[in-house]
Amino acid sequence: MKPFLRDFIPTSYEDIPDATAFEAGYLVTKNAGWRNIRPVIDNTKCVGCLNCYLYCPDGVIFREGSKINIDYDFCKGCGICSKICKPGAIKMEAEK
Ligand code: SF4
Ligand code: SF4
Repeated sequence: MKPFLRDFIPTSYEDIPDATAFEAGYLVTKNAGWRNIRPVIDNTKCVGCLNCYLYCPDGVIFREGSKINIDYDFCKGCGICSKICKPGAIKMEAEK
């Protein structure tokens, strides 16, 4: 018999992962300099939904008080955070 979808639904909040990857600060190898675009956050547009934090595959987005910040030592510049940010608070800019 096939399992029902409800068999896979978490039974409590504790069963839901905090993020899709490790928490910020987990990675140990710094970006080697190949990133050519970087995400830049405009905290005046940020509504604090934390979708960028949840979707960043490298877990390099973190919260500082009421502000969202990025650990550029480990961000690979994939742009997922920018795509997922509905208020448009994250723009990808060329590396200087
Ligand atoms: S996804 Fe955008 S609005 Fe949401 S917390 Fe991140 S920067 Fe802020
Ligand atoms: S560009 Fe990619 S790696 Fe960098 S913060 Fe955004 S989602 Fe994470």
